[in-house]
Amino acid sequence: MNELIYKEGIFPSNKREELLTRVAASVSEYRYKHILGVEQAARKLALRFNEDEELASIAALVHDYAKERSDADFKQVIMANGLDQDLLNWNNFIWHGVIGAEIIKAELNINDERVLNAVRKHTVGAAVMTTLDKIIYVADFIEAGRDFPGVELARKLAEKDLDLAVAYETKHTLEYLLAQNKTIYPAAILTYNAYVAGKNMEDFNG
Ligand code: GDP
Ligand code: FE
Ligand code: FE
Repeated sequence: MNELIYKEGIFPSNKREELLTRVAASVSEYRYKHILGVEQAARKLALRFNEDEELASIAALVHDYAKERSDADFKQVIMANGLDQDLLNWNNFIWHGVIGAEIIKAELNINDERVLNAVRKHTVGAAVMTTLDKIIYVADFIEAGRDFPGVELARKLAEKDLDLAVAYETKHTLEYLLAQNKTIYPAAILTYNAYVAGKNMEDFNG
């Protein structure tokens, strides 16, 4: 992709290279590759759906910034920041987005709520999502490194209809969780009701 020069001060120094270094230092090599894949996918979606490319780039680069922190670290942030105590009943899957946003704010000085909300919502979505939220949610699912049954259809849907891509991903993830008897985070059901319920099955044929 073309070089992207930050200029909005969302990441205070406006240096993308510096953000890349900070992210690389926070996660394993394997996850860093995933993150770069999400950035590429998110920038493409931003151009396609008229979202700000810098915003998409930054949100993508930080979306899994906290993914490899310990459970103890997350619990400490829940207590220190007075976050909802119900979060204590969940785990890394939920924490790395919702609490990850607080860690990003504290460590990277990114205070833009558009970015932070996209990070908060990237794993389970929400009933109300902005274009940026949807882009990060979908880019995480379709980035070039993902390989699972259904990913090609998800990529195809994301070429033409972002809401449909959100719907497909939500259905796919919930089907997987149900098949494995996993706990469903309540917000995931709200995403399902908002984006999947009532959709015509034929819409998912691509
Ligand atoms: P990643 O961080 O790039 O691996 O991707 P995500 O942040 O989208 O997902 C992290 C994990 O959360 C995945 O393994 C999902 O299957 C899982 N996950 C998503 N929604 C839920 C949910 O409602 N409940 C549970 N238990 N897990 C979920
Ligand atoms: Fe994630
Ligand atoms: Fe991810």
